[in-house]
Amino acid sequence: MDKNIVNELKGIVGEEWVIEDIDRMLGYLVDETAELVRPPPSRDVVLVKPQATSEVSEILRLANKYRVPVFPRGGGTGLVGGCIPISGGIILSLERMDRIEIDRDNLMAVTEAGVTLGRLIEEADRAGLFFPAHPGDEGAQIGGLIACNAGGARAVRTGVMRNYVKGLEVVLPTGEVLDLGGKLIKNNTGYSLMHLFIGSEGTLGVITKAVIRLYPKFGATATLIIPFNDRKNAVKSVPKILQSGIIPLALEYVEKDLVEKSAKRLGLTWPCRDGKAFLLIILAEADEDTVYLQCEKIDSICKENGSLEPLIAESRREQESILKIRSEIYSALKPETVDILDVAVPPASVGELMDKIDEIERRYGTYIPVYGHVGDGNLHPHVMRKEGWSMEQYEKIKEEIYMAATELGGVITGEHGVGYIRRKYLRLSLSEEEIEVMRKLKKLFDPNNILNPGKVVP
Ligand SMILES: Cc1cc2nc3c(=O)[nH]c(=O)nc-3n(C[C@H](O)[C@H](O)[C@H](O)COP(=O)(O)OP(=O)(O)OC[C@H]3O[C@@H](n4cnc5c(N)ncnc54)[C@H](O)[C@@H]3O)c2cc1C
Repeated sequence: MDKNIVNELKGIVGEEWVIEDIDRMLGYLVDETAELVRPPPSRDVVLVKPQATSEVSEILRLANKYRVPVFPRGGGTGLVGGCIPISGGIILSLERMDRIEIDRDNLMAVTEAGVTLGRLIEEADRAGLFFPAHPGDEGAQIGGLIACNAGGARAVRTGVMRNYVKGLEVVLPTGEVLDLGGKLIKNNTGYSLMHLFIGSEGTLGVITKAVIRLYPKFGATATLIIPFNDRKNAVKSVPKILQSGIIPLALEYVEKDLVEKSAKRLGLTWPCRDGKAFLLIILAEADEDTVYLQCEKIDSICKENGSLEPLIAESRREQESILKIRSEIYSALKPETVDILDVAVPPASVGELMDKIDEIERRYGTYIPVYGHVGDGNLHPHVMRKEGWSMEQYEKIKEEIYMAATELGGVITGEHGVGYIRRKYLRLSLSEEEIEVMRKLKKLFDPNNILNPGKVVP
């Protein structure tokens, strides 16, 4: 990295917030992508930690002037190599921009990009409000969550990040600051530029601040675990639950060996002894009676499909520990995982997708654990390590799963995004015309291709 550029960066953010020593930034060179598919980072990088939007703007102006790549980084929990510096340049960590204010009257949070998901949940709770979304790792930051349009377990009723973002402050790769939207529920003024940045994975602009919609606390919540001996019966029950008029916060599918492995790693216990396949349902309503009625209704729907005795967790601790076990399945499987996929299909096709994955598993004589957000049609099949297998064999399986999803009208990614590692598969989900429009947009926002180059757009 050019010494003059490093000195100019020090002039912008202060000497102590520019880190050149590679040993002090090793944790910033990776994310949570499984090791075998994670791109190798460049070591010709400098780590910069601005504290204000004006500093981010100056950094981008400088980078644009000297044509230096900039890699925005949040919590580094991404699963597709999105924040990894794949070439020399500046790692832009937003972690110091972590101010948050809760506006109770408007039920909104105004947060800087570096606020973590854990802190947003906590601050909303302290103000007597609730942030429902729960993309598994609470160390993810608002900027990263919005840049990835993250989803997670509690998205059935209140949606993914896009449904929460009402305002955004974004710095363009050329340094201009855009203040988009605001504390508004309705806003139809001009093109919705804000939504272009949501899900743009750090390629169109750097998110510095956001207005996030919050919800009132629900009067009563319960987490229901419905065990089945047969996966097909579990999956068959999902549309019936949704048709009955109950819209849970979360409707997840998990399997016994996976939750037990995750629980063991966390030092927790999966509370349900019976069954091999489970529906995990989070209910949230105004009062306990409604929650109980819903539990009974769900139990009777599932019993018609052969479910066993359900378990109802009501205490906050118990519910949190069940969610934690579910959220950390990936971490438990990670050492044996080649790649975690996040294909999405129309919700009613989830069972068919699972059958197709079973068939791929049989044909290749390998193990493909599958779990995920069945209520949203979004599954996580894991491609697992197998003795003596080459990368080509793993890639073949991945491609087959992607094809299975797209044949059902689905897409290659419903949550984690394209990042670096999914670019070569983008054409399975998008047409040449769509990709060309994306290229033109990228050029419009980032004429010198300095912001997260080599990501998303093939
Ligand atoms: C155990 C575990 C469970 C997970 N569960 C889920 C889940 O249920 N649902 C789900 O959707 N995801 C899940 N994830 C993936 C991950 O948490 C999300 O993708 C999250 O949105 C990443 O946020 P981050 O702050 O860690 O971003 P990073 O990993 O740091 O970056 C991700 C992308 O966002 C860009 N970016 C980061 N900050 C900014 C910014 N301020 N401005 C512009 N671009 C930026 C980066 O350049 C990169 O392209 C899980 C991950 C783990 C490890």
